[in-house]
Amino acid sequence: MHSFTEENYIKAIYKLSGNGRDGVNTNAIADALDTRAASVTDMLRKLSTKGLVDYVKYKGVSLTEAGERIALQVIRKHRLWEVFLVEKLRFNWDEVHEVAEELEHVSSELLTRRLDEFLGYPQFDPHGDPIPSESGELKLKPQKLLAEMDVQDSGVVVGVNDSQPLFLQYLDKMGIFLGAKVKVLDKIPYDSSLEISIENKKNLVVSSEVARNIFLSA
Ligand SMILES: [Zn+2]
Repeated sequence: MHSFTEENYIKAIYKLSGNGRDGVNTNAIADALDTRAASVTDMLRKLSTKGLVDYVKYKGVSLTEAGERIALQVIRKHRLWEVFLVEKLRFNWDEVHEVAEELEHVSSELLTRRLDEFLGYPQFDPHGDPIPSESGELKLKPQKLLAEMDVQDSGVVVGVNDSQPLFLQYLDKMGIFLGAKVKVLDKIPYDSSLEISIENKKNLVVSSEVARNIFLSA
């Protein structure tokens, strides 16, 4: 059993290290968790005593295998709850992250297993991010940013690179959703914006900024 705060540190380190084991510096963790560097140092010492992180002064911190296992379990719960909130409780995809930030700390393994079963063992959350399995495996599917596609290429929206509510609300408004078929009709050289069609019906122009934040199946 680990506290809410410990789990948030472990998750932050996992994300800052690029899901791997690169060293992360104390200031980056302080920024991510909006706390002081001195508090981070204290917590890292504690996590190091528990064998969850390797902490070398001035060199940064990385997760041990045990730490990484916890990170993946917290992420698994977070993403399963997001699926539950969208599919069963009719939340919008831009509303679920904050709620899942709380639900991810419920520790009952039985609850998580039943939730997974109830949802039919989903592999991706509502933002298209893969859900780690019970043993901590992550399935990654081949995907490409919309901005990298050529004229006449098409694909299905499988995820977003930016989960901020403002971006998701924009996608909703434009009728771009997970699973939508997108085809690139034209690329405008002047500003790299793209003319696309959605589901072979609606045509629209999206900025290069938007195109850099939508993943399509490759
Ligand atoms: Zn989330």
